[in-house]
Amino acid sequence: MTANLTRRKLCQSAGVALMMLPVITVCTDASAKTNLSMREKLKYQSQPKEGMSCAACLEYLPGSSDQSVGGCKVIPEDDEISARAYCVAWNTM
Ligand code: SF4
Repeated sequence: MTANLTRRKLCQSAGVALMMLPVITVCTDASAKTNLSMREKLKYQSQPKEGMSCAACLEYLPGSSDQSVGGCKVIPEDDEISARAYCVAWNTM
């Protein structure tokens, strides 16, 4: 009886572990980084402002395609910068 109970508990634990596998995979697969504190300091917004956008800023580091997000020299450790975004550090000089 005890052996059956232990085996049942072991199978239940294994089942739970298998069900969690996709969750763990998704969590570890998320390699995108966002630097929220710098974004806040620089008043980053996801929309252009008066014709100024990251795509036209010298600090922008474009993504692999026109549609993908990129980085910014002023906002380190952030690879989710939209070409259509804007912040107060916008620079064309
Ligand atoms: Fe965009 Fe600001 Fe970085 Fe320029 S400095 S690319 S406007 S986030």
